[in-house]
Amino acid sequence: MRMSNLFVQTLREFPSDAEVMSHKLLVRAGYIRKLANGIYNYLPLMWRVLRKVENIVREEMDKAGAQELLMPFVQPSELWQESGRWDVYGKELMRLKDRHSREMCLGPTHEEVITSIGRESIRSYKQLPVNLYQIQSKFRDEIRPRFGLLRGREFIMKDAYSFDADEKGLDKSYEIMAEAYRRIFERCGLETKMVQSDSGAIGGSVSHEFMVLVNEEAENNAGENDVFYCTKCAYSANSNHAVSVLTSVETDGKFTKAEIIDTPNTHSIEELANFLNIPASVICKSLIYVVDSKYVLALIRGDKTVEETKLMNVFAGNDIRIARNDEIEEIMQNSELNAIAGFIGPKGIKGVEIVADETVKDLKNFVVGCNQTDKHLVGANWGVDIELPIKIADIRLVEEGDKCVDCGADLKVTRGIEVGNIFKLGTKYSKAMNATFTDKDGQEKPFIMGCYGIGISRTAAAAVERHHDENGIIWPLAIAPYTVIIVPVSDQDEVQMKTAEEIYNKLLASNVEVILDDRSERAGVKLKDADLIGIPYRITIGKTIKDGLVEFKTRATNETETISPEEAIQKILAL
Ligand code: ATP
Ligand code: MG
Repeated sequence: MRMSNLFVQTLREFPSDAEVMSHKLLVRAGYIRKLANGIYNYLPLMWRVLRKVENIVREEMDKAGAQELLMPFVQPSELWQESGRWDVYGKELMRLKDRHSREMCLGPTHEEVITSIGRESIRSYKQLPVNLYQIQSKFRDEIRPRFGLLRGREFIMKDAYSFDADEKGLDKSYEIMAEAYRRIFERCGLETKMVQSDSGAIGGSVSHEFMVLVNEEAENNAGENDVFYCTKCAYSANSNHAVSVLTSVETDGKFTKAEIIDTPNTHSIEELANFLNIPASVICKSLIYVVDSKYVLALIRGDKTVEETKLMNVFAGNDIRIARNDEIEEIMQNSELNAIAGFIGPKGIKGVEIVADETVKDLKNFVVGCNQTDKHLVGANWGVDIELPIKIADIRLVEEGDKCVDCGADLKVTRGIEVGNIFKLGTKYSKAMNATFTDKDGQEKPFIMGCYGIGISRTAAAAVERHHDENGIIWPLAIAPYTVIIVPVSDQDEVQMKTAEEIYNKLLASNVEVILDDRSERAGVKLKDADLIGIPYRITIGKTIKDGLVEFKTRATNETETISPEEAIQKILAL
């Protein structure tokens, strides 16, 4: 490709609406252009990168025994009604009506469609296992599209779905996918960590996420997930799923007599602990949440934080938020109580479901809200002053310094970008949609299913997030749009241009993906663009050509060597 023909427009400045480096660089280097919020054009350079990621994914999926198909992007609502998700998927699901007023949606994922395919096409256990996948644009009307391709509304995903006859089969399909994922990301030049993750409220199900860790780049926050990992063993988990052993702290308070005392203006745990001169760990914190449309009172030890996904899962919910003040007011009125946030407590409260974190069980002589503003109950004990809630669960956010449940060593936290996930669905969809096969024993049974996603566009962006410097992108070789760029310093210099053309033609003849920067631009502009665009190797032809030498630069290390054109060609061919 001649640079004069390449459809690319690099920009002097970063776009003003971009927060993270991958978004800034992909726009500035001419890879993507925004069409609407969270919706991007993939320009020719980007499309080359995406196709490379796709092809790696395709090769590894095929090698793992999966078969590619393509399902429709627009889906009828009936299927979603069958699975029960039409009413619970929420606003991320882009719904529309056709000319006959039939309700449809833009595919955010394809469990329903694949289950209908399995239901119609797989009759017998003899046809199992099956793993089907596609690579396609998805649409999710994300509440906060941001970070460019990392969280778009339209994005490209590989989604695979396995059908097995039994749990053992699913375990095997799952392991095969985990292995394929490791190879895929490794081939893309991305180090990933496979971490345990939340699998919603489906009882007993298992899922893992593949995270690109981005902790080293403290200046940006592209990693939307907190990943806890053990400093000694292999344990690692998304914060929405992580568990830990706590270090012991004081949980027996100094107030030995139960009484309600004045605690004016102590709206937060910190204010209350300071006012009473006690550690936060002898306070029972009471927080009101709204899970779907239900009010929930969560109790947790004062020095700990509620993990909202864990709390939501206790109630098999799809949505969770902290209650607004007017909602707390309504609860208080219905309970014939009168307190504002900060003074709420479990005693006498009505119309809410109460769940206690495991940390509150062991509290003794503790302090807790008593539903009277500016007052707290001190010296409280479970079973004496207040009943311990029946529902006790782990709803606690793990913190750095907590101990590993597997080996007892310290846990640490880092930020991660989720580039893929694997998920044991079990019979969630096959049961709901009555998708069955005839097993060995002649019985009709629902398929045991798994689903496996990779964000193709997010993976490409994550690669930029991990691989760049102050001059631009540094593509890992396997997913770079081109392998090498040839830059003659002066297009007026005949010898330089002739050598450049020769190298270019030789590389082309060997099927190397090569750019020749044949533009009449200043050398500085050409070299800057080469760095910005992030082509892994650069052959610069300048004055030293009179001695038969060119400069060979490796973008990743910024190392240069002065070698002959033939040696430069050999170096590229040897890659
Ligand atoms: P997230 O928690 O980041 O929203 P998810 O759990 O919704 O992801 P899945 O529904 O399992 O993800 O989708 C599979 C993969 O698709 C994810 O691992 C991610 O790489 C990618 N993906 C999901 N949502 C987006 C998005 N809005 N933009 C780009 N890629 C996405
Ligand atoms: Mg999502």
